[in-house]
Amino acid sequence: MIVIGGGLAGLAAGIALAESGWRVRLFEQRPFLGGRATSYVLPDGEHVDNCQHVTLGCCTNLEDFYTRIGAAGKIKFFDRLYFLDPQGRHGEMQAGSLPAPFHLTGSFAAFAPLALLDKLSIARAMLDILRTKGKPSDLQENDGISMLEWLRRRRQTKRAIERFWRVVLVSALDEELDRTDARFGVDVFWKAFLSNSAGYRMGVPAVPLANLYDGCKWEIERRGGEVVLRAPVRGLKMENGELSGIRFDEGREETADAYVFAVPHTALAGLLPESVKQSVPSLANLDKIKVAPITGVHFWFDRPVMDEPFLTLLDTTSQWIFNKTALYADSNSKEQTAPAGQYLQLVISASYDLLQKPRQEIIDLCLGEVWEALPAARDAELLKATVIKEAAATFSPEPGVDRWRPKQQTSLPRLFLAGDWTDTGWPATMEGAVRSGYLAAEALLRTTGAPRKFLQPDLEPDGFIAMWLGKQNTASGSR
Ligand SMILES: Cc1cc2nc3c(=O)[nH]c(=O)nc-3n(C[C@H](O)[C@H](O)[C@H](O)COP(=O)(O)OP(=O)(O)OC[C@H]3O[C@@H](n4cnc5c(N)ncnc54)[C@H](O)[C@@H]3O)c2cc1C
Repeated sequence: MIVIGGGLAGLAAGIALAESGWRVRLFEQRPFLGGRATSYVLPDGEHVDNCQHVTLGCCTNLEDFYTRIGAAGKIKFFDRLYFLDPQGRHGEMQAGSLPAPFHLTGSFAAFAPLALLDKLSIARAMLDILRTKGKPSDLQENDGISMLEWLRRRRQTKRAIERFWRVVLVSALDEELDRTDARFGVDVFWKAFLSNSAGYRMGVPAVPLANLYDGCKWEIERRGGEVVLRAPVRGLKMENGELSGIRFDEGREETADAYVFAVPHTALAGLLPESVKQSVPSLANLDKIKVAPITGVHFWFDRPVMDEPFLTLLDTTSQWIFNKTALYADSNSKEQTAPAGQYLQLVISASYDLLQKPRQEIIDLCLGEVWEALPAARDAELLKATVIKEAAATFSPEPGVDRWRPKQQTSLPRLFLAGDWTDTGWPATMEGAVRSGYLAAEALLRTTGAPRKFLQPDLEPDGFIAMWLGKQNTASGSR
């Protein structure tokens, strides 16, 4: 079988199918694996992530995938999240001794960047999510309502929206609240913050992203397959309305028993013949799925300027600062010598306003914010800086977008799809991409009469939530 695309979706499908005994041939157009969640070497020799990527404790399929490819040990998990507002007030989120859903209550109560009224309004909305087990009834209205509308209905204060909901959700979903389907927003809080006390833990790679995938090529090739880089697929070969192969440059063709297209939806739309778009209903609306940008800004200072491993900034253009030097530091190394300089990476999600701005203007803007947040940086020399703009970083989780997301199995025999944008129920994340790959593998295996399960369950609810749901299940079971 053939997989087209070596991002997380294609790799997850490839690994699952190789494990199931298939000879997998994976074709990736770029010289490295990882797709959007990758890293590469700049002309000056610096190895940079395409953009900082983080995972959460609730991302069970990504964790399973990392384990399968031997990369789980390369992710550092953090229990404490750090926040800073322009007035210099620090806030932290860390689980205390109370069980879920109250595990974050202590740090939330002490969270200085929010006032009591803001906290009360947030608590009210959280109670609504809890009461409805993450499924408030108005989420389904008119094919979905926006997160901002959902929050307004729950009378959230302006500051609660700006300094809490927006901060968490723009980073998690890469879209502004008025363009985000409330279903995704509520789900983030239910899965990451309420139903399980470990769901919010943040996982950050301790190596450049491309290094996470070293095991993939090895694993596929060990089982008789191959991973071919610099191999852009140029089109589909159709014979009598059936998919019979894929086309490469110079007229080269490859054939297989089944094909998993794991490319972004914009790329797939360019590859599909018009006849397929018209005959396969689920592929007719790919152009309705919009995209959203993320901008990464990389700073190299001549000395350490930051102590925390990462920091969330409130009320600024820069949303996160990651201390890459600390994150890459080998925690197992006995010799802990102080680093000479420090490498920081800033992340700005839904960065529509930055897309047209010149790079130097973005550097100046973000450097000013770093000086405010990290006073030590004012005395440091900025050795170099880089801006990486990803105009189509993720699909936009607009209200109703799920209508346009196709299932992994199509009505065209032998054609399967994977990608964060396919129908996974999840927003555009590494977890969503891996889920799609597993679902594509499961769909393919079902058609061969040898079904196998790869999709991992969500984190089990724990604490009071488990007791409460358990009680409810017993009650409904006895009815
Ligand atoms: C800047 C940025 C920051 C992000 N931050 C986070 C984060 O912190 N946490 C998180 O969970 N997610 C994050 N994401 C989202 C995450 O990266 C994606 O959801 C995920 O990587 C998508 O994987 P995929 O396999 O579906 O698609 P992709 O990674 O896009 O993979 C598709 C692959 O197909 C290849 N391809 C395309 N066309 C062809 C062709 N014709 N022939 C052969 N190969 C082809 C591409 O080169 C690519 O390798 C971020 C994304 C970006 C861009």
